[in-house]
Amino acid sequence: MSAADKGAGGKVLFIADAAAMEEVGRRLAVVTPPGSRIYLQGDLGAGKTTLVRGFLRGRGYRGRVKSPTYTLVEPYEVGACSVIHIDLYRIRDGGELETLGMREYLDGDGICLVEWPERGSGRLGEPDILIEFRIVDTGRALSMLRRSASGKVILAALENH
Ligand code: ADP
Ligand code: MG
Repeated sequence: MSAADKGAGGKVLFIADAAAMEEVGRRLAVVTPPGSRIYLQGDLGAGKTTLVRGFLRGRGYRGRVKSPTYTLVEPYEVGACSVIHIDLYRIRDGGELETLGMREYLDGDGICLVEWPERGSGRLGEPDILIEFRIVDTGRALSMLRRSASGKVILAALENH
């Protein structure tokens, strides 16, 4: 994996295909502790769900991973802690988060992976890691940004893993 420095502990990675995107998720899963929050930002089709699929594989989940675009939240009980896949694409107003019981998941001790966090209109709070996805030709560019002390430790571990 090639990486160029992007400041603030951030790296830009070029991910050539979906298999490589799953591999990023898989590696991240191994170094992410319970209670972490990871936000995934990027256009439709940028590869967010693909990374989550790899993340779940990395934690030992073998079943189907479907996009929670309609259900908004998909919890997985796998290994030592739960992994909660959230997709806020269809949220129009951050206030909806409260009625959907999202807070319980976000403040719980599972690992939350959130697609379209910006639709939470600032009500979600800061993540440990923010991953920005960009479509570049036939591949994707990823920036991984630490947003907490724990996020810094996770990204350092990812680099050495
Ligand atoms: P999102 O959740 O961001 O909308 P998806 O994960 O559903 O995006 O991916 C959309 C499409 O892009 C899928 O067909 C997936 O296989 C493909 N894809 C994912 N990562 C890559 C990549 N690094 N390079 C090329 N195609 C990718
Ligand atoms: Mg998606």
